[in-house]
Amino acid sequence: MSDAAELSCKEAARLMSKRQDVALTNDEQENLKNHLYQCLSCRRFEQQLGFLRQLAQRYSKGGAATENEPT
Ligand SMILES: [Zn+2]
Repeated sequence: MSDAAELSCKEAARLMSKRQDVALTNDEQENLKNHLYQCLSCRRFEQQLGFLRQLAQRYSKGGAATENEPT
């Protein structure tokens, strides 16, 4: 039985926020993945989250990025 419970967009958003702080369970990951696969608006939301996260990390390190940036 590999049928995952269908997530609502609200649930998906909650999981995506949660994922930034703690690891999701296998079920949660699977459900989220399935939802993202068929939901464009949540995929966009995920991209935005990732982007904001990168920005936040960069600024929290006082500009010392881990990427190749000129000093
Ligand atoms: Zn959705």
